[in-house]
Amino acid sequence: MHTENEKSEENCQFGTKLIHAKTGIEGHYGAVNVPIYQVSTFNQEAEDNHGRYDYSRSGNPTREALENTITHLENGEAGFAFSSGMAAISSVLCLFQAGDEIIVSHDIYGGTYRVLTQLFSRFGIKAVFVDTTNIEDVEKAITHATKGIYIESPSNPFLHITDIEKISLIAEEHQLVTIVDNTFMTPYLQRPIELGAHIVIHSATKYLGGHSDVVAGLVVVSTKKLASEVKFVQNAFGAILGPQDSSLVLRGIKTLKVRLDQQQKTAIKLAEWLNHHSLVEDVYYPGLIQHPHYALASKQASGYGAIISFKLKDEALTKHFLKTIKLASIGVSLGGVESILTHPATMSHASIPKEVREEKGITETLLRISVGLEENEDLQNDFERALKTFVRSLPI
Ligand SMILES: *Cc1c(COP(=O)(O)O)cnc(C)c1O
Repeated sequence: MHTENEKSEENCQFGTKLIHAKTGIEGHYGAVNVPIYQVSTFNQEAEDNHGRYDYSRSGNPTREALENTITHLENGEAGFAFSSGMAAISSVLCLFQAGDEIIVSHDIYGGTYRVLTQLFSRFGIKAVFVDTTNIEDVEKAITHATKGIYIESPSNPFLHITDIEKISLIAEEHQLVTIVDNTFMTPYLQRPIELGAHIVIHSATKYLGGHSDVVAGLVVVSTKKLASEVKFVQNAFGAILGPQDSSLVLRGIKTLKVRLDQQQKTAIKLAEWLNHHSLVEDVYYPGLIQHPHYALASKQASGYGAIISFKLKDEALTKHFLKTIKLASIGVSLGGVESILTHPATMSHASIPKEVREEKGITETLLRISVGLEENEDLQNDFERALKTFVRSLPI
């Protein structure tokens, strides 16, 4: 049942929803934020009356507030919070069984590649890696054993765009479940369920948390049937998010729009600047007109995000750049208020064997920047300094 208040919130624009999305647990003392229910167990009214909550693995008010919030934002049926993005991904993969095949984007997050090829493979679940930007290749890969299509769009690290609507249509035709890792876009810029997907996954460690202070994962599903299946896995497998961390993600979500608006502004300027730099070999950013999927990115999402990948002219320059850069932290994460620079070959994608990595174009000269909230001019000056000083040290 909706109260008048809830109705009016639902008609609001996204930025307002971030602040006023109903958490489903309001009402205590008029607190404007969701209290942290640091409890493991709940007093039962009677042995046969468990009440709304009985044990925090099965349900916790703070976690539930976060789960309801992300459900609203993704426009789904139900949401679930997990102890990490990988816990969310692994819990979703638990919906499959031995003998099942899943078609997976070939350039997915390294940890997802690892869990599929080294862990779920042990249980007879087979990942078939396909360039999901090519719809014909996806269709060709479907067999009688295929049960799902798992995509990441934009992908990591090349920001390739997969057509979520088309993939969902094919999935529907073959009765497959469509799973989208929406970490890079967030529900602010892209809402896969509205495009026909069944399951949306987030590493909330990234933009939703937004401050590099929490590791968390979220799942939103589009149907009641999937909701009860994921709920079962969440409770049975038990990789739940704790109340403190749920509270941190709830807080991060409130500023998602203002952070991303600013980060995108800086990202587009930086991408264009890199694009014209003589020491930069290539730039991968869906907001650049030259990006092979620029048109699709513009249609499918309301923004291009704030992750840019680029290749420098050679390996020594890349090493120097990583050593010299000051304003970006060198690290594996993304989506925080601080800019984070990653060297995929040795960091985020290190778990992928070298031959496979090189085949995917993840060379030693590839870098990825998650643009933070520093001023654009300062970032650009820092980049320029790091590139320039290398040129000077070259033998004449
Ligand atoms: C970080 C990340 C994950 C894994 O999330 P964790 O919170 O680190 O477990 C999954 N997918 C993408 C796209 C990511 O960036």
